[in-house]
Amino acid sequence: MPIDFERLEEIGRELLLAIGQDPNDESIRETPHRFAKMWRDFIEYKDDNADKTFPELRINQLVVVKDMPVWSMCEHHLLPFQATISAGYIAAGRLLGLSKIGRIVKLSAHRLQMQERLVNDIADHIEKATGSLSVAVLASGTHTCMAMRGIEMPHKMISSEMRGAFRDEPEARAEFFQVINHG
Ligand code: ZN
Repeated sequence: MPIDFERLEEIGRELLLAIGQDPNDESIRETPHRFAKMWRDFIEYKDDNADKTFPELRINQLVVVKDMPVWSMCEHHLLPFQATISAGYIAAGRLLGLSKIGRIVKLSAHRLQMQERLVNDIADHIEKATGSLSVAVLASGTHTCMAMRGIEMPHKMISSEMRGAFRDEPEARAEFFQVINHG
């Protein structure tokens, strides 16, 4: 569905009213507009370059891109969370350009999300783009819905998706974590 910008502005105004603020107050008069713009920019994020691969049939290596911080939005609380993502795959004929994994990570984060699904979406996307069934994605997240509301507890939430060799072969999994921790 397309973004309804005017409606978002109205909701921003309504939100201010509902929490006892005066939307005509000079200091927050532009806030409904900023609110609408923030949601539009977050949801309408696009990247057509996330899937480009180049064929490299003889390469059968472990490829890992690690420590990519990304912002997403918790679908339960509409509050942001930040997750640091590391992702890898064992090349099976098609290589992803280096920046493409970063693009896939950002693209997967720009929607209402859960960290578990974010990790899954990234793995799906890498699997589809590379044709490799051996894909590993690890996320360490901090969720404002737990850090600034509710229990108000600083934390790190870890989630991982291990597919193919990373799931079935302890050596492949160990190599991935070795690279993540020491590479
Ligand atoms: Zn939440």
